Amino acid sequence: MSDFLPTGIQLTYLVAASLFILGLKKLGSPATARNGNVVAAVGMLLAIVATMLDQHVLNYEMILLGLAIGTGIGAIAAYKVQMTEMPQMVGLLNGLGGAASALIAVAEFWRLMGTSQPIPLDVNISMLLDVLIGGVTLTGSFLAFAKLQGLISGTPITFPFQQPFNILLLGAYLAGSAYLIITPDSLPIFLGVVAVSLVLGVMFVIPIGGGDMPVVISLLNSLSGVAAAAAGFVVMNNMLIIAGALVGASGLILTEIMCKAMNRSLFSVLFSAFGSATASGGGAAGTIGDQTVRSIDPEEGAMMLGYARNVVIVPGYGMAVAQAQHSVRELADQLERMGVDVKYAIHPVAGRMPGHMNVLLAEANVPYTQLYDMDDINPQFEQADVALVIGANDVVNPAARSDANSPIYGMPILEVDRAKQTIVIKRGMSAGFAGVDNELFYKDKTTMLFGSAKDMVSKLVSEVKQL
Ligand code: NDP
Repeated sequence: MSDFLPTGIQLTYLVAASLFILGLKKLGSPATARNGNVVAAVGMLLAIVATMLDQHVLNYEMILLGLAIGTGIGAIAAYKVQMTEMPQMVGLLNGLGGAASALIAVAEFWRLMGTSQPIPLDVNISMLLDVLIGGVTLTGSFLAFAKLQGLISGTPITFPFQQPFNILLLGAYLAGSAYLIITPDSLPIFLGVVAVSLVLGVMFVIPIGGGDMPVVISLLNSLSGVAAAAAGFVVMNNMLIIAGALVGASGLILTEIMCKAMNRSLFSVLFSAFGSATASGGGAAGTIGDQTVRSIDPEEGAMMLGYARNVVIVPGYGMAVAQAQHSVRELADQLERMGVDVKYAIHPVAGRMPGHMNVLLAEANVPYTQLYDMDDINPQFEQADVALVIGANDVVNPAARSDANSPIYGMPILEVDRAKQTIVIKRGMSAGFAGVDNELFYKDKTTMLFGSAKDMVSKLVSEVKQL
């Protein structure tokens, strides 16, 4: 039995790792994403059960207690969180992941110090890396959470000699680590290294503007995976190494996708202050020269939609804030009943997290076949009688194509201005996330339907029904 158990555990880990990879693959498409989540969760269950059977796991009571408390808190948080607060939630979870990994290194250091055996070099280095990456992930993620939640200002915080101070901190970490590699038995130095790592996390995030936090959170997500992999090397657990590496790699890919869709480099996100003081909603009224916008009421909007043959719906952050997705689905259903062809155009960074629109529309049971990626829908806008923009702004801003001075120049956009008519639903003339005005609103073919997305779409539904 004792010979069988480790092999059985390793084989179970292999199955679990395969399920993680399969789950990740399925997460790549909205049609299979839910199933992918279940597959990966089953993998995690197998991994946990196998680890619990490991003979090194001694205290089942503590583990079960921790599991019960963690499950309870996690379930309540998941039920309560608003879709628009998802980036913050992910930030918190990353931070806790980093903390858990760093605690593994701390506990292992403590345990090894109590034995008279020397600490092997590879374990020692893994512990020091784990503490650094886990510590940075913990405080960095919590700070990112606080910025996104508005608990602290999203403005970049800078002070004189910031870079030299950061280099000094890094030097202190390296010196402490070098000392511990030569004489791995000093608890005060180890705790010093932990403290420096925590401060480094704070220093990493404070100069970055609140607007860039979603990208930072994605990067910290990747780091939490790397920390878990390092913890895996500390306790020589294959599952932790594989799962950590998967999170690390996928987080990095996600970060890359977000940067690309915003046409920004990771370097500029981390080291420039774009997005620092901008947030959608409540911004200054936008004007380009003395141009004016044409505003319509829901009745006129309903006429345009009801008598169209092709309508493309373009959802954005405002739809998410207003939680208008169910009303949007109702409007699309009603239009389809009247013989209108309805499609949804999905921009990869519409909203505040990748896949934000897909998640919301899936929640409202919009058929996946009606969702079109940017590259697929852009050539179709010219045939669209009406493009209905619901709470989107930056992702439809033609300045990204035409104005080399615009901060969003070069960002791929949904080309709604090529449609025969465009209706834009938003509350006022506030800028979007990037804080820039949008010439789309002033074009001859554009009409504005001012009001909150849910309210306006509901009014459109009842007006369309009366046609
Ligand atoms: P934007 O942030 O550009 O614009 C949203 C618009 O919604 C605002 O102009 C606002 O105008 C309007 N709005 C706000 N509340 C409501 C409401 N209740 N009803 C109707 N309208 C409302 O959104 P987009 O989706 O177009 O663009 C996303 C932006 O976020 C991009 O710049 C992207 O780069 C950035 N970003 C996206 C990430 C992602 O992963 N998705 C991550 C990081 C950044 P008003 O106040 O006048 O109503």
